[in-house]
Amino acid sequence: MRQSWLVVLLLIVSGNRIAVGEEVVPSPFDSDQVRFVDLSLALNERTPVWPGERAAPFRLETIDTLEKDGMLAKAFSMPEHLGTHIDAPNHFVAGQPGVEKITAAQLFGPGVKIDMTLKGEQDADAMLSVADLEAWEKRHGAIPKGAIVLLETGWGRFVENTARYQNRDAMGKLHFPGYSPEAAEWLVREREVRGIGIDTMSVDRGVSAKFEVHHVVLKAGRYALENVTHLEEMPARGFGVIVAPIKIEGGTGGPTRIWGVVAK
Ligand SMILES: [Zn+2]
Repeated sequence: MRQSWLVVLLLIVSGNRIAVGEEVVPSPFDSDQVRFVDLSLALNERTPVWPGERAAPFRLETIDTLEKDGMLAKAFSMPEHLGTHIDAPNHFVAGQPGVEKITAAQLFGPGVKIDMTLKGEQDADAMLSVADLEAWEKRHGAIPKGAIVLLETGWGRFVENTARYQNRDAMGKLHFPGYSPEAAEWLVREREVRGIGIDTMSVDRGVSAKFEVHHVVLKAGRYALENVTHLEEMPARGFGVIVAPIKIEGGTGGPTRIWGVVAK
């Protein structure tokens, strides 16, 4: 009872803000008062591809033209895991739901941004640790239950330069920062996050061979967001996140629009 009064009080005090679980964020329905930050990349043939023999770039082909057909229409093809995309729980774990089964309630929530750009600048193989998360909480307060956590490594600024973004060594191994498996476990178990995202090609570090972070997050039925962009525009907390993935039946992920909802 006391809790619901607190929520009502917060709504009255904060006007254009809404409570999502235990966090209060700007209301996306109050478009005069909020700014939407598009956290997704536009897809084109230069969008960085995960290296490998079966790697295919984004392709767009015109199939109808205004001149000939009276309408303009195109067809596109791409791997599910290209550009800004979601990893559905079935991507790494058998028996888990595909992308079409992720419910609407899982796809919006309070946002949290963790900045590890300094660590990423010093070491391309850096990992976000549990100690980093605890340090973040000391400064900004506890990560709210059901948060969508976005990790800024600074790699987003390389996305137009695929070679720099992938950062492959002579052996072909990738080098970019990521979550540590322990940090992912902590976020899933201790903070019950809805999902985790990152401004690189993978929530695991580039050098990871076992993709432990993927296993931890997807086994728990949560999702991962990769190649998220414009994280430098986001505050540490107090914003909402809207995740809008494509609905492919049995898909293991797919292209996704993501918006951060911040107060003007
Ligand atoms: Zn993926």
